[in-house]
Amino acid sequence: MTNVILLGPPGAGKGTQAKRLVVERGMTQLSTGDMLREARISGSEMGLKVAAVMDAGGLVTDEIVIGLIREKLQHGGSAGYIFDGFPRTLAQADALGDLLSQMGQKLDAVVAMEVDDGVLVRRIVGRYTCGNCSAVYHDETHPTAKPGVCDSCGSTNLVRRADDNEESLRHRLMEYYKKTSPLIGYYYAKGDLKRVDALAKVEEVAAAVSSVLDRG
Ligand code: ADP
Ligand code: AMP
Repeated sequence: MTNVILLGPPGAGKGTQAKRLVVERGMTQLSTGDMLREARISGSEMGLKVAAVMDAGGLVTDEIVIGLIREKLQHGGSAGYIFDGFPRTLAQADALGDLLSQMGQKLDAVVAMEVDDGVLVRRIVGRYTCGNCSAVYHDETHPTAKPGVCDSCGSTNLVRRADDNEESLRHRLMEYYKKTSPLIGYYYAKGDLKRVDALAKVEEVAAAVSSVLDRG
């Protein structure tokens, strides 16, 4: 059982790497961003509440996202969890530590995905995803093999996120530096932090993440 956090700014490649780990290792991806987007699509009260904050690039309350993660962990039965986009605040990090220890589990690694801020705009502005299976693509670095058709599931429902624009990204980056980047020091001090060069090609980043997981 391996539990890992992928930590990095928006566009670092967390979702891309998480999806590979799901396929290669049978782990479970827990993306609070995906869960919140699903809540919006379902039109639930919570989904409606978070919509404006998400579109502007702000952080949803700790209470909501911790609740989402708690619910998923309660189901159990995974070969290990990949926390993608969670935790994003110190309160969330503390809550995750408590939840895992209540389950008799621990974090095996926190992978800090290091990028230059300059590449993030290009990664975010070029990103599109499959609305059916949530595969992640990029206009320049990773387009679908056949234009308009998802490589993974064949769906033609390829979508761009409402918050993937430069203005929202700027706000998301500010939130990252103010509230999330302190987690790098937090996990370093706990002895869990491993750094990976996330500017490299997807396959190279995947190899680096894998070697972190294999070394334990
Ligand atoms: P995050 O989940 O951290 O926000 P994503 O995994 O969605 O980031 O990646 C953001 C965009 O950058 C996507 O369009 C993805 O295809 C692309 N991307 C991810 N990793 C790399 C990489 N190593 N090199 C180039 N482009 C990448
Ligand atoms: P992501 O898909 O990780 O880029 O997240 C998209 C948006 O969802 C963020 O900009 C936030 O508005 C919200 N969000 C996702 N995860 C969290 C979290 N752990 N804490 C607070 N807000 C979150």
